[in-house]
Amino acid sequence: MARERLYLFDTTLRDGAQTNGVDFTLADKVKIAEMLADLGIDYVEGGYPGANPTDTEFFAKDRHLKTTFTAFGMTRRPGRSASNDPGLAALLEAKADAICFVAKAWDYHVRVALETTGEENIASIRDSVRAAMAKGREVLLDCEHFFDGYKVNPAYALACAKAVHEEGARWVVLCDTNGGTLPHEIERIVGEVCKVIPGDHVAIHAHNDTEQAVANSFAAVRAGARQIQGTLNGLGERCGNANLASIIPTLKLKPEFADRFDIGISDENLRKLAHVSHALDELLNRAPDRHAPYVGDSAFVTKAGIHASAILKDPATYEHVTPEKVGNKRQLLVSEQAGKSNILAELDRIGIKVSKDDPRIGRLLDIVKERETIGYAYEAADASFELLARRTLGTVPNYFDVTQFDINVEQRTNAKGERVTVTLAVVKLKVGDESMISAAEGNGPVNALDVALRKDLGKYQKFIEDLTLTDYRVRILNGGTEAVTRVLIESEGADGERWTTVGVSSNIIDASFQALMDSIIYKLVKSGAPA
Ligand SMILES: [Zn+2]
Repeated sequence: MARERLYLFDTTLRDGAQTNGVDFTLADKVKIAEMLADLGIDYVEGGYPGANPTDTEFFAKDRHLKTTFTAFGMTRRPGRSASNDPGLAALLEAKADAICFVAKAWDYHVRVALETTGEENIASIRDSVRAAMAKGREVLLDCEHFFDGYKVNPAYALACAKAVHEEGARWVVLCDTNGGTLPHEIERIVGEVCKVIPGDHVAIHAHNDTEQAVANSFAAVRAGARQIQGTLNGLGERCGNANLASIIPTLKLKPEFADRFDIGISDENLRKLAHVSHALDELLNRAPDRHAPYVGDSAFVTKAGIHASAILKDPATYEHVTPEKVGNKRQLLVSEQAGKSNILAELDRIGIKVSKDDPRIGRLLDIVKERETIGYAYEAADASFELLARRTLGTVPNYFDVTQFDINVEQRTNAKGERVTVTLAVVKLKVGDESMISAAEGNGPVNALDVALRKDLGKYQKFIEDLTLTDYRVRILNGGTEAVTRVLIESEGADGERWTTVGVSSNIIDASFQALMDSIIYKLVKSGAPA
């Protein structure tokens, strides 16, 4: 049997942006879109141009992504022509390869929410698809509330879907908008749809309100749908969308799907999945779900006992797939040897050549393990790992020493009678034999310390002048009075290179200071500053 192509559509940046507590910046969006495109996702939906300034800006210029970059928006409003609808016009102007419209497919919603007729709603669908096709865009259309609508009025829901297909849209997207449909219902209804619309034009968009969005996506594929829409880590409104971090490995590793379908994600990229999943959580400054299938830290951890001894004999006894295939690891078996090979792979990635028998590798591994138990996160802080590795291997010059710093936070009433908080940092440092002192005010203690630290580094100043801090994230690692603070700082150079550094301490200023120092020293190393 010929293998069929199954497509993946990611809406982390659009539907996922509806998650309570998630607020993507433009830089976040660019980074996540690149990560998803590099992973091999066929479609990346970036947002809703015209709906908010971030999304409008995201689509204002060509992002050159290796994916079908998709803009989301509404079909033309009822009672207007396609050429006389500012919302639609903005969407058609967006720098995107594809447009994903949303339209209602439940007659009840058409009457009550849209206050128009079923005919006018279908006319709006047809006009909008035609307008986007005329602009040369690939077109998708989300049939909102498709399944709930189908249960009440199958003829109307199907008429909407057929109109989309007849106008030449690439994909008719069947949405379980309220997320309450069950897998057997999805399979039956998608099967009915695929009798009138070829399955390779049918997509499933499932929400997770009965915790079956992943199962619903597979039910739709079994019934004939050939595109799955979802989000990374299942981000999304309420209980989230179908989780692509679970869907992708199942498609790649379970014979029922792997034998029948090709997807855009290579075996090699599948091994990056755990990293990609964790990178999104780091960006959102939230702890990854340890128990997430495939990618969670606990997904392949076995405690001692009968399982452990069986696993030692043959991992297949208690594992449904091999963890390495998704970039995860078996924790019981993290031997000295496996840990060493991880470290060697990391060193190779950052371009440090070292023999695999070098005793310093074992020492580096011990330091990393020890520091990770107290809260350092080297997977997220590539630059701090590189410095630690270089230091352990003895190759980071001692550019300068901070001999003392002092931060004063003062709240007082100013001349205008307003309460103000003023922060002043004073940093004393030695560059070679030269002692220097810098003072700076900031909008907070970390900002003041940063400004003072980078104000005058003597002969090294020219190497760090283009350094900017692009992100500062704080996480309290364990509650109560024993809390430890982890600070992650992301920096950027004039050439656009970004790096992340980490600091850990019970004192937030100390943790920030470590991360700031690592960032500056990393920049000096990368700029080839002389010792
Ligand atoms: Zn949705």
